[in-house]
Amino acid sequence: MRNYFIAGNWKMHKTRAESAALATALVAQLKDGKHKYLVAPSFTSLETVGKIVAGSNILLGAQNMAAEEIGAHTGEVSVLQLKDLGVQVVILGHSERRHVYKEDDALINKKVKLAIKHDLEVILCVGETLEERESGKAEKVCETQTEKGLDGVSAAEFEKVTIAYEPVWAIGTGKTATPEDADSIHAYVRKVVSRLYGAEAAKAVCIQYGGSVKADNAAQLMAKANIDGALVGGAALKPETFVPIAKFG
Ligand code: PEP
Repeated sequence: MRNYFIAGNWKMHKTRAESAALATALVAQLKDGKHKYLVAPSFTSLETVGKIVAGSNILLGAQNMAAEEIGAHTGEVSVLQLKDLGVQVVILGHSERRHVYKEDDALINKKVKLAIKHDLEVILCVGETLEERESGKAEKVCETQTEKGLDGVSAAEFEKVTIAYEPVWAIGTGKTATPEDADSIHAYVRKVVSRLYGAEAAKAVCIQYGGSVKADNAAQLMAKANIDGALVGGAALKPETFVPIAKFG
């Protein structure tokens, strides 16, 4: 079996006490899990959750970070502050960052390079809107976001990158891409990676799918040749919905 990577993005949910309860349950219930795991709580819960997952098989992730290392950036959180809390992975370019907070490829690329410079793993999210899909641009959009997001990232640095294909129209909507549709974009992104970094890197890269992943569709998605894991939003908020996804197969 491949080394699947199952990540939970808790978004702007949960107080510290609620985060602690979820993290504690996941540590207990995933301790015999076979895959690679990550939880990404809010910034405010990182320290609390970090202490709970330390030494377990669950990595600590952040949902975003500033594009600058330090300085006068009111309201931002820096890579140094994340490292200080034991963060190991950062999610960058999530569709909510791109579409609600208007982050563009250049800004996301700056963050990707800064995170890697500080030895964080990166989950780079790419994905098309419904309008882009309906006008036949899904592949092109994912190609551009992948290429621009990775601009200036060397082949050695790329080993720290996971790509998450998250069609915007499937996030939080209950609509999932069919396993076939998702797999076809994953295969395309893998080709883009091959062009950028070579065939070995394309084979090795982990490409997660995200967009209304649930216990009842996880196994079908993961069975596809090019789907190597999941980035889970809504279903990551409760042990009873996340654990069955995390333990699929
Ligand atoms: C996400 O936000 O990354 C996501 C995939 O959300 P959901 O699972 O709720 O669609």
